[in-house]
Amino acid sequence: MATDSYLPYGRQEVDEDDIAAVVEVLRSDWLTTGPMVDRFEQAVADYTGARYGVAVSSGTAALHAAMFAIGLGPGDEVILSPMTFVATANAVVYQGGTPVFVDVEEDTLLIDPSLIEEKITPRTKAIIAVDYAGQPCDYDALRDITDRHGLYLVADACHSLGAEYKGRKVGTLADLTVFSFHPVKPITTGEGGMVMTDNPAWVERVRTFRNHGIDVDHRKRDEQATWRYEMTELGYNYRLSDIHAVLGLSQLKKLTTNIALRRNIAAYYDRLVLDLPNVKPLHMRVDRAHGYHLYVVKLPVREWAFVRLRERGIGCNVHYAPVHLQAYYHRTFTTKKGSCPIAEEAGWQILSLPIFPAMRGEDIERVVCLLGNDME
Ligand SMILES: *Cc1c(COP(=O)(O)O)cnc(C)c1O
Repeated sequence: MATDSYLPYGRQEVDEDDIAAVVEVLRSDWLTTGPMVDRFEQAVADYTGARYGVAVSSGTAALHAAMFAIGLGPGDEVILSPMTFVATANAVVYQGGTPVFVDVEEDTLLIDPSLIEEKITPRTKAIIAVDYAGQPCDYDALRDITDRHGLYLVADACHSLGAEYKGRKVGTLADLTVFSFHPVKPITTGEGGMVMTDNPAWVERVRTFRNHGIDVDHRKRDEQATWRYEMTELGYNYRLSDIHAVLGLSQLKKLTTNIALRRNIAAYYDRLVLDLPNVKPLHMRVDRAHGYHLYVVKLPVREWAFVRLRERGIGCNVHYAPVHLQAYYHRTFTTKKGSCPIAEEAGWQILSLPIFPAMRGEDIERVVCLLGNDME
């Protein structure tokens, strides 16, 4: 296998502007959380239409901070889909909560709103909507449920920065929205994340949480010429540095272009796989604008395709093995096989094909051609 022809499933785009921006911060007075973090938060808020953003050190930290913001504690339950990265459920457990898994729709792998209400108990505090692959969940249906039951709606939008639901941008669709800036995600800061909200009280809680639970930060103490600080909550060091933030700020300028490229790639895949009766792409709902963080197909015998594509230098992957069947969740929360049958079946059939903005038409053709050969 020639390494130069290796096609990863996802790849960041870092250009000379990004590099120059980071170098400039390295020559400045602030390295950790400073003016670039403020600017990055404002820029993501402006882009999404959310009132506030609070940057943290990862998407996982952002999920944890969101669970802290809503006051999640021991005994509280949070409803979520098992078709996600383990971090979504882990954030619930970090705060002492219990994840309650609800199955997905077969054609989108998004949480099925019609299955949620039967899982609501007096301990249910929130629903986490996971915008799987970059397609927003049915937020009107979810909002209807959270309104009627007095629950919080949190969006795990780690895949869906830039996507839209009924003309509204992700970032404004839930009470709290979480982004990740890991290198495979729509924009990157290396590692990083952000919590979006319109609620100023939650902004304060997340800012405190990312800084050990201390209620006045170092810069504010300088401004107020005081040494006083008070640790009012148990927090963490979840700060993002200015070095990371400036990379995100520079990356954000290219998001619109990159999403358009991703949509073109997905449309080309959709067209080519029509000729392969055994390969079924996931469905895109007509009222959504998909971000295509992932391009996922279902195959009757996924394992063969996975091995054969990998042998030929195609970095396909599986997103995800359903979280409720992970050993930890099975052991700790006695989650059972058969409890989310659609996600479980999909777990054996799904394959994420390479998708990233710099992919060329011939790369897409090569992937689909190998997929076709494999099916014969
Ligand atoms: C990437 C991701 C996370 C975690 O983000 P990190 O920045 O890697 O911590 C959480 N949820 C989903 C759905 C993700 O894809």
